[in-house]
Amino acid sequence: MVSIVVGSIIGSVTTTTLLLVMAAIAATKKANERGGCPTCGMPVPVFRKPTSLRQALRGGWTCSGCGTEMDRFGNETIGSVNAK
Ligand SMILES: [Zn+2]
Repeated sequence: MVSIVVGSIIGSVTTTTLLLVMAAIAATKKANERGGCPTCGMPVPVFRKPTSLRQALRGGWTCSGCGTEMDRFGNETIGSVNAK
């Protein structure tokens, strides 16, 4: 009985993780199809390193070329550190 519960928890965690990874890859592809970074055109990386809590929670990237912060749709984030 307990092993069924543990098994289903592990199963759902694995499924959720897989879905999140697939969603991240799909978001990356979409952002790159739109031209990557809105400032310099650098493609966004698939495996992002969140540089802020907001990015960790909501997705998005910081351009490795120019430092522009983007949301998960590839739009420049308002209030970015590098905003002009
Ligand atoms: Zn850039």
